[in-house]
Amino acid sequence: MVFFHKKLPPSDDASLQPSENSPLIDLKLRIDNAQLPSIVQEKIVSEFDKLQKMDSLSADFPIAVNYIDFILSMPWLKSTKDNLSISHAEQVLQRHHHGLQLVKERILEFLAARTLKGKQKPHLLIVDDEPVSRQNLQYFFTEKKFNTQIAANGKEALECIKKNSRPFDIVITDLKMDVMDGITLLQHISRISPETEVIVVTGHATVSSAVDALRKGAAHYLTKPVQLDRLHTTVKDILENKNKMTISRGPVLCFTGPPGTAKTSIARAIASAIGKGFVRLYIAGLHDEAAIRGHRRTYVGAMPGRIVNEIHRVGAMNPCFLLDELDKIGKDFRGDPSSLFLEILDPEQNSTFTDHYLDLPLDLSGVMFIATVNDLSKLSTPLRDRLEIIEFPSYTDDEKRMIGKQYLIPKQILENGLEDIQPKLDDLCLQKIIDDYTRESGVRGLDREIGNIFRKIARTSLESDDQHHSPTISEETIASLLGPPKYRRDAAEGPDVAGVVTSLVWTEFGGEIMFIETLKMRGSNKLILTGSLGEILQESAQTALSYVRSHALQLNLQEDFFDNTDIHIHLPAGAVTKDGPSAGAAIAIALISLLTKRPACRQYAISGEMTLSGQLLPVGGLQEKILAAKRAGAIKVFLPSKNKEEVNALPANVTNSIAISFVDTIDELTELFFN
Ligand code: ADP
Repeated sequence: MVFFHKKLPPSDDASLQPSENSPLIDLKLRIDNAQLPSIVQEKIVSEFDKLQKMDSLSADFPIAVNYIDFILSMPWLKSTKDNLSISHAEQVLQRHHHGLQLVKERILEFLAARTLKGKQKPHLLIVDDEPVSRQNLQYFFTEKKFNTQIAANGKEALECIKKNSRPFDIVITDLKMDVMDGITLLQHISRISPETEVIVVTGHATVSSAVDALRKGAAHYLTKPVQLDRLHTTVKDILENKNKMTISRGPVLCFTGPPGTAKTSIARAIASAIGKGFVRLYIAGLHDEAAIRGHRRTYVGAMPGRIVNEIHRVGAMNPCFLLDELDKIGKDFRGDPSSLFLEILDPEQNSTFTDHYLDLPLDLSGVMFIATVNDLSKLSTPLRDRLEIIEFPSYTDDEKRMIGKQYLIPKQILENGLEDIQPKLDDLCLQKIIDDYTRESGVRGLDREIGNIFRKIARTSLESDDQHHSPTISEETIASLLGPPKYRRDAAEGPDVAGVVTSLVWTEFGGEIMFIETLKMRGSNKLILTGSLGEILQESAQTALSYVRSHALQLNLQEDFFDNTDIHIHLPAGAVTKDGPSAGAAIAIALISLLTKRPACRQYAISGEMTLSGQLLPVGGLQEKILAAKRAGAIKVFLPSKNKEEVNALPANVTNSIAISFVDTIDELTELFFN
C-alpha cells in the first residue's frame, strides 16, 4: 500500500510560540515534518489537540507526550530492500553451516518460489471508456514489458478481474465512466482482490474526488492528460513496494528438531542473506497476551508489546522475527495463544495487527516470520497448517567432529582471546568429549565443553611465563581439564539381567535409550505400571502382557503363570512423563525375558509398536533412535520390517557401525533376540 502523506498546516496557535519554551513546540515541529501514513497522521493530530488542552502538571500530560513521541519514532514508512539473490543466500548458508544439505535445499527452494513470485511480469489492467486512451496506455505498457489487459468500464473490468486466476498487480482506472464508475470499481476491488493496487486517473480532477479515492483505498491519483513517464514511475514505485513484501508472504517457515541442531543460527543466516534485521522472540518467556500486544494506555506504566517494541528498535517494518520454541507457550499463558499467533502469522489478518498501547493498526505483512518448534504435536492444527515444516535431523558423530573442527573451535578461540595461542583439539579429543562429556543430538554441549577447555587454557597461559605457548591437549589430558566423564555408555556397561530390556525412545531433545524394567512377585493378578506412563504407554503394557499370557504354552510358560502373581513394569526417570506406542515390542520382550528367566542383552535395543496379535507396526524418529543407540554403545537395533525402506534411505553414516535387524512379529523378534 502506498500511503497518502499529508502535513499539518503551520501552526498559528498562540499557545505554541517559542517564547513559552513549551515541550509542545518541539513536538509540533516534529509532527509537521513527519512523513506518516494518513491514519497515523490523523491519530497524532487528534492526540496533539487533546494534549494542548491538558494541564501540563497533570499526571496524564507526560503519558500523552510519551505516546506521541513513540508514535513519531515508529518506522511507519521505512523498510529495508530484500536481497532476493538465491546464489547469495546459498553462499551465506554454506559459509556458516556444515552439512544440513536437505535443510539448506528446502530453504533455498522456499526462497526461490517466493522470489520468482515477486519477479513475474507485472500484471496491469487499464480501464477507460475512451478507446484511444486505453489503447495508447496498453501499447505503452506492453512496450515496457508489462502483461497488460484493457476494459471499457467498471463492469467489464470486474468481470476481467474475476476471470483471471492471477490477481492484477495494478489497476489504472478512469473515474468517470458509464455503466460503473471508477470509485465503485475501486470499492469492489478492495473487497474481492485486496492485493491489487489502484491508480485513479481522471480529467475531472478536483481535490475532493482525489481525497475520496484515496480514502477508499486508491494507491495514487493522477490527472489527465496523463504524463506517461510520471505514470510509469508511479507504477514502478508501487510495484517495488509490493515486492519488498513478497518474501514474507505465503506459508511461514518452521524449523523443528532437537536443540543445538542450528535452527536458530540458520534463521539468523537467512535474515542476514536477505538483508533483514533479526529479532529473536523467546516464546516460553511470554506469560500473557499483553507481553505481545502491549497494555492499554489507561494502565499505569503501560508499554507497547514485544512486536511493536522490536519493530521500533530495528527501525524497519519488515524485519525477520524468529518465534523461538513456539510449542513452549506457557500453560499459564493468559489469553488464547493459538488465535493470537494465527493472527500474527496469517497475511490476511496481520496487515492490521493491533497493539493495545499503539492503538493503531500495524501492518506486519512485510515481516518475515520463522518459527522453531521442538515438538510439533503440541501445536494446534490451524497453526500447524500455516507452517512450512522443515525437519532438522540429529547429528552423527562424524558431523559433530566436523562442526567442532570447522566452526566451534575457531569460534571459541576468538571468544576466549586465544588467537595467538591457537590451541589444538584433534579428532580423538573431540570424540572423547562427544562420548564422555555430552549426551545430545545437537552440538550445544560440545560447544560448551570446548569453551570450558579453552577458558582453562586462557587462565593457564596468563599464569605461565610463556603466554604464547600452545599446550598439547590429548585424550589423556581431557579428564584433567573437564573432570571425570559425565556420561557412560549405559547399554554397553553392566550385566545382562532377565526382565530388563533396552528400548529406544524419541523425545523433543532427540533420541534416547530407556531401560524397561520388569519384576514378578506374589500378589493378586495385578499389572503395576510406574514411571509416569501416559495412557497409550499403559495400554501398550497391557497389550504386551495379554499377548504373553495367551502365548504362554508356545513360550514354555505355565498357562496359569499370572495366578496369585503381580507383575510390575517400570520405566526409569519417573519424573518425566512418557507416552506413545513404540515401546510395545520392548515391553513384550522384557516380560518374556523375565518369565522365561533368559537375560536380555543390554546391547540390543528395540523400538516397535505391537498389535494384540503380535504384529509389529512402524515407528517414527528413526535417525534419532539409531544415533541414540550408537551413543549408548548398543551393537544391534531391532525395528519393524515396515520401517525398512525409511531406514535404507537414511545417510550411511547414520546406519553404519551398528547392526539393524528388521522383524515382522513378536515371535520372530523373540527368536532373534534370545539366540
Ligand atoms: P538450535 O536453535 O537448534 O537449538 P543453535 O542454532 O542455537 O541450535 O546452535 C547451537 C550452536 O551450534 C550454534 O553456535 C551454531 O552455530 C552451532 N551449530 C549447530 N549446527 C551447526 C552446523 N551444522 N554448522 C555449524 N555450526 C553449527
